[in-house]
Amino acid sequence: MAVGCKNIMDYERDGILRESDISGAMPSAARFEKGPVAVIECVQNIPCNPCVHACPFGAITVGRITDTPRLDCGKCTGCGKCVACCPGLAIFIVNKVYSADEATVSMPYEFIPVPQKGDVWAGIDRSGKAVCNARVVRVVSGEMQDGTSVITIAIPKGLAMEVRNIKRKEAD
Ligand code: SF4
Ligand code: SF4
Repeated sequence: MAVGCKNIMDYERDGILRESDISGAMPSAARFEKGPVAVIECVQNIPCNPCVHACPFGAITVGRITDTPRLDCGKCTGCGKCVACCPGLAIFIVNKVYSADEATVSMPYEFIPVPQKGDVWAGIDRSGKAVCNARVVRVVSGEMQDGTSVITIAIPKGLAMEVRNIKRKEAD
């Protein structure tokens, strides 16, 4: 089944997405049980579609160029190839079955310094609030990434749909 965000005009109320804003883009609980899957938090009707061309499995579609994207969760393998190509930094890969008590979230990251595998930074929610420790388990950077690293963090399972960025703990 394909999922996708509705256009959220009142997103501009304060610039912070709520879970209710992206509920239409949520893969089902059954799909999350199968392993990593993309969560596309793209809510504005901007003319954009690099995510469509980045996916080697044809899992993402955009109807008219200004429509928000839709994800066929059955086709998505969670490979992550779409993450770095999104200029809106709107695509995350969520793995809710990483371990018994941890989930992973893979996210685009365009700040410096880039964290290293094994670092423990703060996981922050969509409002910028630090909510947990985030252990970096994978870093993908390099020329092919066009300046955007993809960072995978392990966090408490219950925060898989809240943590959407990281910051150094000494920055608190
Ligand atoms: S994670 Fe991979 S399979 Fe899923 S939408 Fe992105 S590129 Fe396609
Ligand atoms: S590339 Fe990113 S911003 Fe553009 S349509 Fe896809 S998800 Fe939205």
